[in-house]
Amino acid sequence: MSESFDVVVIGGGPAGYPAAIRAAQNKLTVACIDEWKNREGLPVFGGTCLNVGCIPSKALLESSELYHRLREEFAVHGIRTTGASFDVAQMQKRKGGIIKASTQGILALFKASGVTPLQGHGKLLPGRRVEFTAHDGTRRELAAKHVVLASGSLPAELRSVPFDGKTIIDSCGALDLDAVPKRLGVIGAGVIGLELGSVWRRLGSELTVLEALPEFLPIVDQQVAKEAQRQFKKQGFDIRLGAKVTGAKIQGDAVSVTYSDARGEQSLTLDKLIVAIGRRPFTRDLLSAGTGVELDERGFIKVDHECRTGVEGIWAVGDCVRGPMLAHKGKEEGVMVADLIAGRFAEVNYKTVPSVIYTAPEIAWVGLTEEQVKASGRAYKVGVFPFLASGRARAMEQTQGFVKLIAAQDDDEILGVHIIGPLAGELIAEAVLAMEYSASSEDLQRTMHAHPTLAEALHEAALAADKRAIDFVNR
Ligand code: FAD
Ligand code: NAD
Repeated sequence: MSESFDVVVIGGGPAGYPAAIRAAQNKLTVACIDEWKNREGLPVFGGTCLNVGCIPSKALLESSELYHRLREEFAVHGIRTTGASFDVAQMQKRKGGIIKASTQGILALFKASGVTPLQGHGKLLPGRRVEFTAHDGTRRELAAKHVVLASGSLPAELRSVPFDGKTIIDSCGALDLDAVPKRLGVIGAGVIGLELGSVWRRLGSELTVLEALPEFLPIVDQQVAKEAQRQFKKQGFDIRLGAKVTGAKIQGDAVSVTYSDARGEQSLTLDKLIVAIGRRPFTRDLLSAGTGVELDERGFIKVDHECRTGVEGIWAVGDCVRGPMLAHKGKEEGVMVADLIAGRFAEVNYKTVPSVIYTAPEIAWVGLTEEQVKASGRAYKVGVFPFLASGRARAMEQTQGFVKLIAAQDDDEILGVHIIGPLAGELIAEAVLAMEYSASSEDLQRTMHAHPTLAEALHEAALAADKRAIDFVNR
């Protein structure tokens, strides 16, 4: 006889584990299956995000940023720091401790909410059944009223530059380096390239970033992208746009990369090369024949706006389905599905998914870029407030960047907010909330903000959209 659950979730990353917890909160019986094993070979929950993604990258970004600020920015505060040095092994140890605490935290949450954790491989069978193969090889069949597929994603490979795991590495390898590479290359000037490039650049690597596209950060509002490019250049990033990589050859401990750009054929010799050209959905051995679940032409599981696959009772969420590959997007989808299964109202507002790039300065945005608004043909107004005019930013000695708010000319609806500057990733939350509640730019203008705070910059940007900024000369 097979075990049965109301809900079986396959995948315990930031899309799967919240789905399992919310389903249990909804008084459903739930199992969550995950096959991840950590570096010590121990099974853990948390997926990419906790093990090799969001959390470890932010841990190293924090350590390297502290060191960079200590060296470059403390003197102006009157703090002398002669003789400062760093220890990569301790940075990695701290990172490891954070991962351990975070992944163990999920098991504790499962225990407290009544989710059954199953560590091993899950495979969907026809008829809402799941084959579970534990790490010791034992196999059993689970019956479920609902199955949530949350199998995540993997780094995309570049055929002409295959990973060797030592010199040519993916984001996981880039998070695990035990020494600072002297000459570091990154293929892809995207989120991972910029964040992990920042970590090692701050610790001393000579950094070259090869980007295939001719523009820098095309998904970002171009006024912000230009400011970011300027700031990264100042930090010593060598970003080469329009670079088509043609191959890479390992030579001893180094790698020689060839690429072509507007100037012709080029080559570079590097000590480490990170390939960060995007991620692809992971569905290997997830679906047996006859389940009826379909994949699209890029390998994503096909779903509608409510994450229904089209097969009754089978849902899919997170990186394995369409939309931005972001932990919080997956989390909201997981929670939505668990509530829909329980018959509750739930939806995800895909128009207000915030994005953050955790570089210095941080870059954060929600809604449409100015380029997208312009292309839509809707009349709009823009308010920009530079952090240079913010009292708090000046006190923090962090005055690079600005807040930009775009609102509709006709009804004042906030269409997009774009921030580059200190704590942009925290500041964007107010803009997300405003847009979620359909606030107008005037609503933000009429909302009192504590002084002196960085959040005042958003207030002033809203005022600037109507040429009513107080702390900055309106143009
Ligand atoms: P995953 O986290 O990939 O989890 C999927 C899980 O499913 C895995 O644990 C896997 O073992 C399991 N699984 C798959 N198939 C099976 C199977 N058949 N049986 C059993 N288990 C299975 N996003 C952000 O929002 N903010 C960030 O700052 C951020 N930083 C990142 C930094 C890096 C370096 C990387 C690589 C990614 C980052 N991301 C960030 C993206 C984020 O990690 C992903 O969007 C998120 O992890 C996706 O969640 P998920 O649950 O869909 O998939
Ligand atoms: P990305 O899509 O952000 O960037 C990939 C970059 O590589 C793009 O600029 C692309 O034009 C470029 N590229 C593609 N093929 C290339 C080639 N052959 N040669 C040179 N350049 C090439 O992808 P990523 O940086 O790998 O990150 C993967 C996913 O992980 C993203 O979707 C992102 O959302 C997520 N992530 C999020 C965060 C965050 O939220 N802070 C951090 C890291 C990763």
